[in-house]
Amino acid sequence: MMKQYRGIKSQVPDDVILFFRLGDFYEMFFDDAIRASEILDISLTKRHDVPMCGIPFHASEGYLSRLVKAGCKVAVCDQTQDPKEAKGIVEREIVRVVTPGTVLEENVLDSDKNNYLAGVCWDKQGYGMAMLDLSTGSFWIESCDDAEAVVDHLVRYQPAECVFPEELEQDAAFSGLLSDAVSTLMTGHDDWTFEYDTSHDLLCRHFGVSSLEGFGCEGLTTPVGAAGGVFHYVSKQLRRQVKHITQLRLQNASDYMVLDEATLNNLELVVSRSALAGGPDSSLLKLLNSTNTAMGGRLLREWLVRPLIDRRKVEARHHAVQAMLDDRNLHKQLREKLSKVRDLERMSARLSAGSGNARDVRAVAQSLLQLAEVKALLASHPIPSLARLGESISPLPDLVSLIDSAIVDEPPANLKDGGVIRQGYHDELDELRVLATQGKQWLADYQATEQERSGIKNLKVKYNKVFGYYIEISKAQLDNVPVEYVRKQTLVNAERFITPELKEYENKILGSQERSLTLETALFQEVRQQVVERTPVLQETSSAVAELDILACFGERAMALNLSRPQMDDATGLVIKDGRHPVVESLSDGQRFVPNDSLLDTLENQLIIITGPNMAGKSTYIRQVAVIVIMAQAGCFVPAEVAEIGMVDRVFTRVGASDDLARGRSTFMVEMQETANILNNASARSLIVLDEIGRGTSTFDGISIAWAVAEHLHNNAEVKARTLFATHYHELTDLSKTMPGVKNYSVLVKEQKGRIAFLRKIVAGAADKSYGIHVAELAGLPAPVVERAREILSNLEEGEFTDGGQPALASKRPKKPSASDEQQLSFFEN
Ligand code: ADP
Repeated sequence: MMKQYRGIKSQVPDDVILFFRLGDFYEMFFDDAIRASEILDISLTKRHDVPMCGIPFHASEGYLSRLVKAGCKVAVCDQTQDPKEAKGIVEREIVRVVTPGTVLEENVLDSDKNNYLAGVCWDKQGYGMAMLDLSTGSFWIESCDDAEAVVDHLVRYQPAECVFPEELEQDAAFSGLLSDAVSTLMTGHDDWTFEYDTSHDLLCRHFGVSSLEGFGCEGLTTPVGAAGGVFHYVSKQLRRQVKHITQLRLQNASDYMVLDEATLNNLELVVSRSALAGGPDSSLLKLLNSTNTAMGGRLLREWLVRPLIDRRKVEARHHAVQAMLDDRNLHKQLREKLSKVRDLERMSARLSAGSGNARDVRAVAQSLLQLAEVKALLASHPIPSLARLGESISPLPDLVSLIDSAIVDEPPANLKDGGVIRQGYHDELDELRVLATQGKQWLADYQATEQERSGIKNLKVKYNKVFGYYIEISKAQLDNVPVEYVRKQTLVNAERFITPELKEYENKILGSQERSLTLETALFQEVRQQVVERTPVLQETSSAVAELDILACFGERAMALNLSRPQMDDATGLVIKDGRHPVVESLSDGQRFVPNDSLLDTLENQLIIITGPNMAGKSTYIRQVAVIVIMAQAGCFVPAEVAEIGMVDRVFTRVGASDDLARGRSTFMVEMQETANILNNASARSLIVLDEIGRGTSTFDGISIAWAVAEHLHNNAEVKARTLFATHYHELTDLSKTMPGVKNYSVLVKEQKGRIAFLRKIVAGAADKSYGIHVAELAGLPAPVVERAREILSNLEEGEFTDGGQPALASKRPKKPSASDEQQLSFFEN
């Protein structure tokens, strides 16, 4: 048997844990046993020096889930032969391999999040990406210009696992970049599976097409290669069911607003810093997600990380949200019905993969019933996008009535328990069930007659697996046992007997029970097959439901968060009246959030410099503008009285000083990389949000870099984007003197007796000074230190420098600046 074990174990890579079926257990051996016993906290034993541990097979799903959740891959090896027929060792085979990127188990999956398996492929022209969610059947590809774009994708979609050609694994720079960026499980897979021709063939065969033209994917070498690699890995290496993958979609970067890794993180769109640190999640997604279905929740995440850039599509979403607000009754009914729709998409995937049970089938019917009403509500709705969604919903009434007639209202989770098929659905099954119940009645009657006949009051007819039915009689009554009873077993206090009559009935009862179970299973499979055959329709319905759910959710959020409809146009202006940061506002604990206006364009208000003390609200303000634009282009209403938004192609941010120690980059390096990315990629349609450039280095270095960056953004027609620039370098306010597109704003603070109060109001004009020392005082720095800082500041403000150009921090007496100092200072002189 160990030989068989080794043979099977060698079929999977070393890091895969093998569940080896032995009788009623799955056993694990050697290193697998050591790893699994630690993770599962089960006892590790040794036989002939071989470490081993086991789990009961009927509870295996739970253990498997825990291992996969912990990031392990698990191969399940079953007996593929009836032990009764085996000559020697029973045949065994790996039936499936489950990995974090391919789980279907409900308790491992996050219902609000796609569970992606990503694929990456590479050639000299660029990269290709594929994303497959086996739990929903969603499968799409995209081209990426460079490795950074690949990383952005991985950050955006957080796949559970990523496969790429082994050859790429050797590329230290690339795999370094990947493993730094994401905590995804990385799996190298055979190079040839990523080749275009191989991939093309494999995919065409699966979809039953002669070319990928119909999916718009023909000839896209690296993305198709990535899709092929992923598909091969799942279907061949992991031996998983892929029938429910019915289409391949092409995503085009040019159809969506590009949000890079830094921006996703800085704006805390789908996950907040606090959540990453293990605290509560205060992301935008969390605030906006009041969807009623799992499908809607998953799609909302994608909408937020991929806002649209086609104005008409954005407006269509706004139009639909408005319709929800205009017809409160429709809105209420839709939300109510949607809340009763279950995760159709994942249920149909599970059923396709052969693992869904009768409860899933029942839930499909229940959801479809609700959807019939949803469809009716939207029938010939005047808003085209809503009418279209209604049309895309197929409530499949014939399937519902089949399920209704076949499956009981509340079926057991396990088919083996029987009782899944409804009474009256199938004549033969009904007869078998009658036989089984009649048999039970017969047994009860038999016991009564035998008690009477023998005069033994405590005579019992019982059942066990070894003997089947038998009669048990206590020792004290043995003298009264009828002669025709055949003794089977002697116990301490009783003896067990059988009779020919009893055995005859046993055959009938057990036979009918067994037959009814087999028949029930077959009938259930038929019904399941009917559901599986409708997979493409169910998928289309699911995506319409997801979209509708988000629109209804946006309607609800608009009311709850007091959002209003933004006006979109194709110009490059941006006007916001009384804008708010929705997340900061929601967390403000009863304190009023102070709304602020914004005016940006590519002419006189192109580069907005915002000064003011630390903690005044600069960073909140500039992020709120970016968040409003993203919300608007995702189709949501926005937290502002008025918002007129010229469509934005990309939002860039560089916010805060986030040390990226894990990736071995200093704060300043990260800051400069983010800035470089902006200057290299922004267009005149972009929105740029900069918070403190050049802070991570010396003051003069910092100001110089910040100044040059501002100049570049202002003077260079190609990157002349709407820009918000918050800085505590007061000197930058001088930019407006020579550059017509620069405007100064500041955050209002009130100063009283040397202390400041934050008013959170953005006003035109530069801050009159920087308030660092006030803030230091507020923070509780000892009074002598604050006092000394004031002294040094006044020295500096009077141009106090040493001969070498260093600020003369130690000096207590003012002294005349040298010529070289003057030169340096004149750069910022009024
Ligand atoms: P800065 O970038 O100027 O240092 P922040 O934007 O980080 O300041 O704001 C500091 C704090 O002030 C925020 O955490 C928030 O609680 C509060 N705040 C900011 N803007 C507002 C506002 N408009 N209304 C009310 N509170 C605000």
